Amino acid sequence: MDAKDYVESVLEDIRRCSPGQEEFYQAATEVFHSLIPLLSEEKKYYEHSILERLVLPERSIIFKVTWVDDSGKVRTNLGYRVQFNSALGPYKGGLRFHPTVTLGIVKFLGFEQIFKNALTGLGIGGGKGGSNFDPKGKSDNEVMRFCQAFMNELYRHIGQTRDVPAGDIGVGAREIGYLFGQYKLLTARFEGSLTGKGVGWGGSLGRKEATGYGSVYFAEHILNKYGDELKGKKCCVSGAGNVATYTIEKLHKMGAIPITCSDSKGTIYHPAGIDVNTLKAIKEVGRESLEKYAQLHPDATYIPVHNYPEGGHAVWSIPCDVAFPSATQNELTIVDAKNLVKNGCILVNEGANMPTTLEAYEYLRAHGVHFGPAKAANAGGVAVSQLEMAQNASMQHWSFAEIDTRLFGIMKDIFTTADETAREFGEEGNLLLGANIAGFRRVADAMIDEGAV
Ligand code: NAP
Repeated sequence: MDAKDYVESVLEDIRRCSPGQEEFYQAATEVFHSLIPLLSEEKKYYEHSILERLVLPERSIIFKVTWVDDSGKVRTNLGYRVQFNSALGPYKGGLRFHPTVTLGIVKFLGFEQIFKNALTGLGIGGGKGGSNFDPKGKSDNEVMRFCQAFMNELYRHIGQTRDVPAGDIGVGAREIGYLFGQYKLLTARFEGSLTGKGVGWGGSLGRKEATGYGSVYFAEHILNKYGDELKGKKCCVSGAGNVATYTIEKLHKMGAIPITCSDSKGTIYHPAGIDVNTLKAIKEVGRESLEKYAQLHPDATYIPVHNYPEGGHAVWSIPCDVAFPSATQNELTIVDAKNLVKNGCILVNEGANMPTTLEAYEYLRAHGVHFGPAKAANAGGVAVSQLEMAQNASMQHWSFAEIDTRLFGIMKDIFTTADETAREFGEEGNLLLGANIAGFRRVADAMIDEGAV
């Protein structure tokens, strides 16, 4: 079968067998289309049915989470853990707590995670999990009771050599603390079964910063290739959570000017540069709306969601040199891509997972905008999670400087791998193709070596 037909037949199977899982289909389409040059050369992947095997998770666990709210009412949510692929090591990937979480969302994230983890060059497989629980508006005690109830089922399926979850949207240091406490209670083991732990009890220095810092390092590596740098560049960042905050912090350190951030209710435009301390105080500590930022900084503008451009996002209509989508999937649409191109943006670097729609990506590429794909650009978080696992296993604690130096090197290696792979297939500068092929090849070759399991 020719490579294109092979890809289309597997995508057609996904459409038929996973109805309604649009994001999963989108993620598979992006990866598989970029693999066609490799699949045309290497028939072994077809002979070993690698694509068919990759789109099926090794295990999907769906469970009921029952907890009691502060008024005494019994509440229920759905919990998920999709253990996608363990060819390279224990499953590794975050937990997302957000009302939009469904099996399809978890499968899209877990599928992406397989290739991202492979790209880091480290020994970690791909998985993802979460719940449709919304931590927003819940008291600390309610969040704690939910996390404990979630772990009452999850603990059976995880462990330091089996599956090691971390945070994602809605799961930060507080949630990881409650999840870890319950894991410890249920198993009577203090072990590295989760990453993103507090630094005082098994966490790694630099994990909190890793995804944002790594994303900025990746963008710098791209610009350096073209004799340019981030210093002095105006940067638009979306999101106001973990990834966005530490992207903004690192951009300041690199001499760039991050001028925006956003949350689910609105966008802040601060031409003088986002004040990262105010941002942390509002979002990390206070868990409040960004609207407060404009009250504290009168020279900043707050744009509520109802004033966003039709079909687009306010962040991407503000002129910038570099764009860092760092909130959620499909947040950068074709409308946004056109605005970015019109305003002279030279690079889009994905801090979030799959923030750019396929149509927007095609438009950016056709107009010569450099592109840092999520699997490569935001891999710093999972890479430092693996460093946390290594420290836990060897009972060591490395300094922040040591972690940051390793992170910089890992991001450089990921860039080089994606860049060289793109060149190998005659697609100079196509980092999306390079990252997908390099990640796929490592996982697929391991699957072949490990036999038909
Ligand atoms: P987070 O700390 O929970 O922050 C998410 C931010 O995005 C918040 O500002 C949130 O707004 C906003 N947001 C979330 N869903 C949204 C929606 N549907 N519409 C508009 N805004 C929305 O999460 P995070 O850890 O920074 O993750 C952000 C992205 O990075 C996700 O795509 C995640 O998968 C990806 N990622 C994270 C890591 C990591 O280490 N954390 C690693 C790799 C990739 P509110 O404040 O209003 O909720």
